[in-house]
Amino acid sequence: MEFEAIKGLFDRYVIGNYARAPIAIARAQGSEVWDTTGKRYLDLLPGLGCSGVGHCHPHVVAAVQAQAAQLLHFHNNYYWEAQGRLAELVAKYTAIGGKTFFANSGTEASEGALKLARLCAPAERRTIVTALNSFHGRSYGALSATAGDNFHMGVEPILPGFRYVPLNDLPALEKAFAAKDVAAVYLEPVQGEGGIFPCTGDYLRGARKLCDQHGALLMFDEIQSGGGRCGRFCAGQVIAPDVKPDVVTYAKSLGGGLPIGAVHAREGVHQKLAPGTHGSTFGANVVCCAAAIAVFEVIERENLFANVTAMAEHLKTVLAGWQKELDCVKEVRQVGLMVGIDLAFPGKAVIDESLQQGLLINCTHNITLRLLPAMNVTTGQLNEGLGILKQAILKVRAAQAQTAGKA
Ligand SMILES: *Cc1c(COP(=O)(O)O)cnc(C)c1O
Repeated sequence: MEFEAIKGLFDRYVIGNYARAPIAIARAQGSEVWDTTGKRYLDLLPGLGCSGVGHCHPHVVAAVQAQAAQLLHFHNNYYWEAQGRLAELVAKYTAIGGKTFFANSGTEASEGALKLARLCAPAERRTIVTALNSFHGRSYGALSATAGDNFHMGVEPILPGFRYVPLNDLPALEKAFAAKDVAAVYLEPVQGEGGIFPCTGDYLRGARKLCDQHGALLMFDEIQSGGGRCGRFCAGQVIAPDVKPDVVTYAKSLGGGLPIGAVHAREGVHQKLAPGTHGSTFGANVVCCAAAIAVFEVIERENLFANVTAMAEHLKTVLAGWQKELDCVKEVRQVGLMVGIDLAFPGKAVIDESLQQGLLINCTHNITLRLLPAMNVTTGQLNEGLGILKQAILKVRAAQAQTAGKA
C-alpha cells in the first residue's frame, strides 16, 4: 500500500492520540529503516528504545520464528522453559539476588512494583515517593507515580498515595520521609522521557540510606535506561555500582522489539507477590521470552556493553565540539547511549528537517532532542546521523535568524 492509502485508513479508523510523521514504515534492519516509497532512514531512536539491539536482529528473529512455531503462548497455570531461562538471565545481570515477575509493558512493570511496595509495607506506610519530571507509565497507578501535570491534565483525579520530590535533592528526599508513611522510593536512575536527566551517585547512595533508615524499599525504574544502553545492564550499576536497589523494573529493550516487562525483586521482597496478589494472562508470553533470551545472547556474543561504551565516548567527543561551536546547543546530557541535547529553540523543526534528510530521532520537553541509538550502532552510522542532525540544526537556526531579522 502507498502512504496516502495507509494514512487514509488511519484518518478514518485509528484514534488520533499520536502526532505521527508523514511517512509509513515498510521494513527495518539494524539501525536502518525504509518507508513505503523505498526511501532509507538512519534510526538513532530505534523502537523508541525498544529495539536495543537494532531492528529485526537476525538472531532475535530466528528465535521468535522457532518459538512461535513450537509454542506461541501459554498461561501461568503451568511451567515453560523460556520463562525460567529468561528469569535466570535477568537475575544474573541485575545481580541483587532476586526473582522476576513478567508483565507485558513498562507501565505494567511499574504497576507490579508499586503493588509489591505496598504489599511489603505496614498498613500505615502507603506513600510512594517519586521524582518530579519522572515518567513511569500511563495506567492510573503508574500515571500517579509519574510526577508531571501535563500527563495528569484532564484525567484527574489521579490516585492518592504519591509524593513528588525534586531530583538529586537529598534534603528534599529526607523531608519526604518526615511523615513516616513511605513504603518506597521509585526512581529512574536516568530520567528518559523527562529529557535524559541522570541521578547522581551521591543521590542514589543517599536514597539507599534513607530507605534503609525508614524501612522503605528503594525501587529503580530501568524501563528505558536498563537493558544495556548505558554500558552495563542497569544505569544504576553505572552511576552507583555500590547501591543495590530492592526492586528493579525493565521493559523497552528487554524484548528486542517484542512487548515484555519485568519486575525483579530481591530475596525477602519478592515473596510478597504470593499467589492471588498479582498476575497477567499474557505475562511472560512464550515468544516474548524467547526474544528476550535472544537479546541477552546477542549482547554476550557481540560484546555490546563494550560497544556502547566506545560509541558513547565517540558521541561525547562530537557533542562537546557542538557545544563549543554552536551557540544554540545549550546543554548536552548523556549516560552511555542515552543522549539529550537542549536547543535554544523548539526541536520540532529540527526533527522534521532531519526526517527529510533521512534521520529518525525525537524531541521531548519541546527543546530536548533525544537519541537512543541501538547498542550495536557503528561509528559510521553515528557520524552519518550526527552529520544530518548538525545540518538540520544549522538550517533551522538560519531560518529563525531570518525571521527574527524581518520582525
Ligand atoms: C517507557 C517508559 C515506561 C512505560 O513503558 P510502556 O511500555 O510504554 O508502558 C515507564 N517508565 C519509563 C522510565 C519509561 O521510559
